[in-house]
Amino acid sequence: MSEYGIGENIKAVEGQIAAVCEKSGRRRQDVTLIAVSKTKPVEMLWEAYDCGCRDFGENKVQELVDKYEILPKDIRWHMIGHLQRNKVKYIVDKVYMIHSVDSLRLAEEISKEAVKKNVEVRILIEVNVANEDTKFGTTCEDVLALVKEIAKLPNILIKGLMTIAPYVEDGEENRRYFQKLKKISVDIMRENVDNVYMETLSMGMTGDYRTAVSEGATYVRVGTGIFGARPTMLKGEEI
Ligand SMILES: *Cc1c(COP(=O)(O)O)cnc(C)c1O
Repeated sequence: MSEYGIGENIKAVEGQIAAVCEKSGRRRQDVTLIAVSKTKPVEMLWEAYDCGCRDFGENKVQELVDKYEILPKDIRWHMIGHLQRNKVKYIVDKVYMIHSVDSLRLAEEISKEAVKKNVEVRILIEVNVANEDTKFGTTCEDVLALVKEIAKLPNILIKGLMTIAPYVEDGEENRRYFQKLKKISVDIMRENVDNVYMETLSMGMTGDYRTAVSEGATYVRVGTGIFGARPTMLKGEEI
């Protein structure tokens, strides 16, 4: 049953999350672990599922849809990768949340398809807090204006913010970026925009999720730490 050792990996990550919560005075139930299963075969997802995982993250539309069709329907699928507008229609009624919304045009497309299919779609606004050229995401300066525009669209719920911090050896180096995302979310919350919740902060990956939890992450997205290294990495982009 534990062919890939995924159960032990999940237990270890869960233990770390619990320890950081304890240390930083947070409640364990306020942090959700998303198992980032991109590029991994369905058998590995089954193993994670059997260990109790119900939140999975994918970054490609086709792969998400394929896995959605095969795996149990109580899974919450998180779209965490860059999303092209022409592919929105394939996933609006399948995903629990889209973490990677960074433009009004993309949000308009999500809204249009959500109305068509009569669903409400939870989204996060992706912010490029470190201002990296290689990353998608809106800037810290533009995020409030973008949130206000998107909030007017029907069938979309803005649940919070997401960031992909730089790749670093020591997660501690990303603390300032997590603090910055948290601050932006508090500032936006104070604006009391209708239809905007700011209860979700999706930040932290295998290398820096402990730091992210200590700075208020409510979702951490862990791939390598659960499923092992992915076979190939393209320059500048995670696959
Ligand atoms: C791949 C990916 C992750 C997981 O990365 P690991 O370093 O393997 O934990 C998290 N978030 C996003 C957006 C990703 O694309």
